[in-house]
Amino acid sequence: LVSRKKKKEDTIIHLGDTTVGGGKPVMIAGPCSVESYEQVRTVAAALKEAGITVMRGGAFKPRTSPYDFQGLGIEGLKILKEVASEFGLKTISEIVDPAHVEIACEYIDVIQIGARNMQNFELLKAAGDVKTPILLKRGLAATIDEFVHAAEYIVSRGNTQVMLIERGIRTYEKATRNTLDISAVPILKQETHLPVLVDVTHSTGRKDILAPCAKAALAAGADGVMVEVHPDPATALSDAAQQLNIPEFNDFYEIVKKSGLL
Ligand code: PEP
Ligand code: MN
Repeated sequence: LVSRKKKKEDTIIHLGDTTVGGGKPVMIAGPCSVESYEQVRTVAAALKEAGITVMRGGAFKPRTSPYDFQGLGIEGLKILKEVASEFGLKTISEIVDPAHVEIACEYIDVIQIGARNMQNFELLKAAGDVKTPILLKRGLAATIDEFVHAAEYIVSRGNTQVMLIERGIRTYEKATRNTLDISAVPILKQETHLPVLVDVTHSTGRKDILAPCAKAALAAGADGVMVEVHPDPATALSDAAQQLNIPEFNDFYEIVKKSGLL
């Protein structure tokens, strides 16, 4: 169902006035984790000012260590909803438990399925049973074929509103946190009709190369870019080393816009 052979036209996802796929690329930004109302509100105000319409923020955090911050859960989704309605933003947040998919639809506009859950088939099925758009991340070591099949799980249950996001794959290279597979972008665009985005934060894990990677993603045909922004990254409860602060985000966004690709 997700194959370009089955449907020639691009799938377009409507998030308020913003469309993802088939046209102008979108910039999605926001903190790694929802930490507090004030933290989210500070980012949202800055994003609104910059002209961003879609904000991310994790409430259920799949962390490598059980001793790390696990997220605010449903409380975090409530914060996102409250802040988003104040600023007129659309929201994306990760859900990790199939039992939370339905309730999440009440609070957020896009459900993210994270890299670690790309092949959590029960979660994919639950995501397929709702109408809320899904942002599906590529698994840590997933092939493109596995990624496409994961999307098929969702679409085959009836939810056609699926966006794919390349977030880097695990290779031997240590200069970046993951290896950004730029070639996945044109391949996914050719093989599927779904919007394809690139998460420059998690694929690179370093702030100094976000702008060139975002430009490369857009030049390769990506329908959007996602980046993490935090009011004070040094104190962030997750991904402290790689989130941009607000002035850094504004600089990054200007550089990407100046390229004419966005
Ligand atoms: C995230 O986007 O918050 C995240 C945890 O990313 P990934 O699933 O790609 O590691
Ligand atoms: Mn993160």
